[in-house]
Amino acid sequence: MVGACRACDAPLRWAVTINGNPVALDALPSERGTLRLEPTAPGSEIELAVYVREVDRPKHAGALYRVHRVGCPAAVEQRRAWGPSRIRTGLRYEGD
Ligand SMILES: [Zn+2]
Repeated sequence: MVGACRACDAPLRWAVTINGNPVALDALPSERGTLRLEPTAPGSEIELAVYVREVDRPKHAGALYRVHRVGCPAAVEQRRAWGPSRIRTGLRYEGD
């Protein structure tokens, strides 16, 4: 699934977390990425974003994606205006 950020127009790639919540990722993999993507079911277009722990990242050969909100310029602006406590990504990862 693809889309664009309503705040900064950056291309997004949508996935779901292990809890079933939609999460917007940067469209392209990042070297600072923390999530690998896998199909939720064979043939499904919906991808599951699985958190890869920092210690496991060097062993992970495939692409890692970053939650868009982490690097969204608009979110950075908001953080500057409101302070860090007001920003929540709404993400929690099971088993981390
Ligand atoms: Zn954005």
